[in-house]
Amino acid sequence: MTSGPVDLGARLFSAARRYGERIAVRSGPVDLTYDELLGRAGGVASNLRGAEGDYVGVLTQRGVDGYIAIHGTVLAGKAWAPLNPALPDDRLAAIIEAAGLTTVVCDDACSAIADRLADRATRLTVVRVDGGRSDPVSPPRRSASDPAYLLFTSGSTGAPKGVSVSHGNLAAYLDDTVATYAFRPDDVHSQTFEFSFDLSVHDMMCAWSTGGALAHMPATGAFAAGRFIVGSGITCWFSVPSLAILMQRTKALTPGAFPNLRTSLFCGEALPASVAAAWHEAAPKSRVDNLYGPTEATIAISRHTVDGSKADDGIVPIGRAFSGQTLALIDAEARLIEGEGQGELVLGGSQLTGRYFQNPEETERRYFEAEGSQRYRTGDLARRDGNGVFHFLGRMDSQIKFNGFRIELGDIEHAGRRVSGSDELVAIARRDADGVVTGLALVIAGPQKSAAEIREGLAALLPRYMVPATVKLVDVIPKNLNGKFDRAAASALLESER
Ligand code: AMP
Repeated sequence: MTSGPVDLGARLFSAARRYGERIAVRSGPVDLTYDELLGRAGGVASNLRGAEGDYVGVLTQRGVDGYIAIHGTVLAGKAWAPLNPALPDDRLAAIIEAAGLTTVVCDDACSAIADRLADRATRLTVVRVDGGRSDPVSPPRRSASDPAYLLFTSGSTGAPKGVSVSHGNLAAYLDDTVATYAFRPDDVHSQTFEFSFDLSVHDMMCAWSTGGALAHMPATGAFAAGRFIVGSGITCWFSVPSLAILMQRTKALTPGAFPNLRTSLFCGEALPASVAAAWHEAAPKSRVDNLYGPTEATIAISRHTVDGSKADDGIVPIGRAFSGQTLALIDAEARLIEGEGQGELVLGGSQLTGRYFQNPEETERRYFEAEGSQRYRTGDLARRDGNGVFHFLGRMDSQIKFNGFRIELGDIEHAGRRVSGSDELVAIARRDADGVVTGLALVIAGPQKSAAEIREGLAALLPRYMVPATVKLVDVIPKNLNGKFDRAAASALLESER
């Protein structure tokens, strides 16, 4: 396996110099060559010169200016911390404070939000992606342990959890992934993920380190996704399974629909075998892989290639660990389980980020040592079969995936308590017959406010995708034998009238 520089800035800079005339970014009718990307990202980098600290916030829409902002932040030798403009100001302000950000790069669409955030922060400099260019200068050197990006995920206590991924973590991922899929300069990579979702790092960095084009897919429906694949000449696809499920349901996966795809990757939640099979028929020349991994282990850490000739039931296995990484199982006493068996999935290897960002309690809860190396407890229940292949069985806690978004139900409950003044509440993920989450609800007893007022209050505290569509007021929430709120019984109340 040939490996690239550990330093992401060096990797991007040398690729951009090498592939100058090729297309680096495609968004609708706009094409940006590597020379143009380097010039405009260089403009951002020169405006970031002198910025304090390791991290710079990137507050942009997904699209050309966002790509320039991230590329420029890397060229400046800084780690980017995406600030999703869909989040309420309060949550963005909490992330800025937790990350200790003193500089934020923003595009035109987000400049009003950036100004509001600057007004309430003690000290926040706003740098605009303004079309300025600068001659490329090689980025300052970063070492393996320096941070490359910082993401915040939903936390069960209501405070978002920070995960800082190092240049070494990311280089391990990129080396293995680029070698496995043999990405080439004539590849066109889909870009479907929000910047606040780490799978977007795969899209950008796999394309930009191999001279390929990154094609921005606007947030649109399933039919448009099919048109996007064909119209943009996509050869490498990457999305959450939810999008493929929607495409299958709306009959967008017709046999042979995507003849130019050569790799199709799915990650972030369970991939139904029937959907993988339909994708295989729609993209007959494509390798179809199910990737698995949490943000804490850098994008993805295991893969399973779907065998198009074999009709599997249920969901596609999560497969085997990437080279240099490990997947293992532990029992209830945190002892490693050898051979076939079932238990909590634990991860190890050079992609492990090793700790939560400035959060020793959560780090202590999730990381431990086994057989001389550090491991991360995923909270996922898994089974290893007789061939050493891992299968995902579900979560062991109340973390869920909804349209690919990672959500702690406890995070919604925490916001519910703040808004309603009631402690008697339960957040519920509604599921269809296949177990796929179709919606969120909050069941609440004894609030001083109406359901509509509570929803409004939640919208001011939570990302849009976490705001429950249903807020149900009830007299009491049933408890189980241990005296805890009973989610299943509360769920049944949703269907009842008050
Ligand atoms: P995130 O950090 O947002 O990538 O979420 C990580 C969690 O998503 C994992 O711990 C799993 O619960 C779930 N997940 C990711 N990939 C898969 C997959 N291929 N199959 C089933 N669950 C997955």
